[in-house]
Amino acid sequence: MQAKTLKKVVFYFFIGKRIKYISTGVQFHPCTETLSNVELVVMNDIKFDYHEFWKATYENIKNNSPENEYNTWFSRISYYASEPQQVILAVPSQFICDKVTKLYKVMIVNTLSELAGEEIKVQFIVKKLSEQQTKDVKNENPVPEQTQQQFESNSLNKARENANINPDYQFSNFIIGENSTFAYNASLAIAKNPGTSLNPCLIYGGVGLGKTHLINAIGNYILENQKDLKVVYITAEAFTNEFIEALGSKKTQQFKNKFRKVDVLLIDDIHFLQNKDQTQEEIFHTFNDLYEAKKQMVFTCDRPINELKGMTDRLISRFERGLNVDLQPPSYETRVAILRNKCKMHNKSMNSDIIDYIAQNVSSNVRDLEASLTKLIAYSELLNQELTLSKAKELLSVMPFVKSGSVEEGLSIQSIIKTICNYFNVSLTDLKSKKKNKSLIQPRQIAMYLSKDMTSFSLTEIGSEFGNRDHTTVMHACERINSLMSVNADTKTLIEKLKREIKNSK
Ligand code: ADP
Ligand code: MG
Repeated sequence: MQAKTLKKVVFYFFIGKRIKYISTGVQFHPCTETLSNVELVVMNDIKFDYHEFWKATYENIKNNSPENEYNTWFSRISYYASEPQQVILAVPSQFICDKVTKLYKVMIVNTLSELAGEEIKVQFIVKKLSEQQTKDVKNENPVPEQTQQQFESNSLNKARENANINPDYQFSNFIIGENSTFAYNASLAIAKNPGTSLNPCLIYGGVGLGKTHLINAIGNYILENQKDLKVVYITAEAFTNEFIEALGSKKTQQFKNKFRKVDVLLIDDIHFLQNKDQTQEEIFHTFNDLYEAKKQMVFTCDRPINELKGMTDRLISRFERGLNVDLQPPSYETRVAILRNKCKMHNKSMNSDIIDYIAQNVSSNVRDLEASLTKLIAYSELLNQELTLSKAKELLSVMPFVKSGSVEEGLSIQSIIKTICNYFNVSLTDLKSKKKNKSLIQPRQIAMYLSKDMTSFSLTEIGSEFGNRDHTTVMHACERINSLMSVNADTKTLIEKLKREIKNSK
């Protein structure tokens, strides 16, 4: 047989699971045909096509991912195109793009590069492919026909992606306590009847208390029950970035339409807008349009609206116009309920003394409760060991939000206040009053700081012992004393001394 000259030859060698890829212009000799395991593809004009590698990468990662994670995130990735040393993958929304970039990008790059024998970059683009396209690029086997139920759940998933709503945050997995009843009820009422009397609504509270959970739960509920409504969730930060981008690319009209033609607009973390005048102006006009059209708006913020600095008065007055509800840190009992519920969700049993220990020593917020639990569950699962209370204490001791072990059993806030009043020679009434004399401010802040540091009472409980003050005031006092101690050795010595006096006076 005559030797053929081929301009471009591409060999795919399938060696076990590894695939080697060679792209070159060579003299081709027919004896090559005798090689087994060689698939020969001849092309007139070379194209960079990493599709085969993507399929192998896809299967590899799929087989090594937990099913839940695969279904929620990885399965949303589709092959889109190849470029020299680069594979372009499509995902249906920015939300999924952020998530899969974080979870899988490194893994995909490594697997693809290993299979291709050269460094392959990966780029994600946000693009909705048709079902047929997705089927073609992801999986060559025909997809079984969907049942009606699957179809509904797929279209709900799609609606969530379009709205940028996190499916994990539902009303059904939000634990209601005295700290959150009002915010929960208001959110549910809005979700049931969007755009009516509770409009706009502002949910405020410190970090990790469930603001993002509740605002997403509203979105999830509406998407499930009123499929014709257009819902959009966005953080104030993403809103700002998109706005800046729109200005740069002269697409402001498109940007305006995106947010002014919705039925439900959910904007998370509006404290981010402080001192961003032009974005505030844009939100102001969006607000007016939606308000006129009786469209529902829900915002969240990390503090009461009147405490925001660098916000225009007219925007503040818009937020004040509607319903303002707060989320407070959970009490001990709610913390226990949240922990028990989270264990149930993870299908994990945990001794009640450990639950009690976490609830006593992590009083900051729900996110920190979750982080503590995750650490303990990971430990017992990875090492396959029964968790003891002493091991739990040891594991949690390094977490910054866990009390430092200096918690004094049976110590009351009142006895701390009494010792501080004696030491600084101020009256109990003055210390608890709203007076702002210099001679009162620091003793009051120290008393609040020590109450937080030496007892397991929550910020709310401490605030109520200090003349019904808000939990943010106690938080501010703790931050102030902490920062004073870090720069001033005298303050540190004073605090240590007061701690000893408090312990002795018990
Ligand atoms: P925030 O937005 O206020 O900072 P998140 O909504 O992100 O707080 O809540 C932090 C974590 O705690 C999330 O995983 C959320 O699901 C969980 N969480 C907060 N509050 C509750 C609650 N009451 N019940 C169940 N989970 C909660
Ligand atoms: Mg949040």
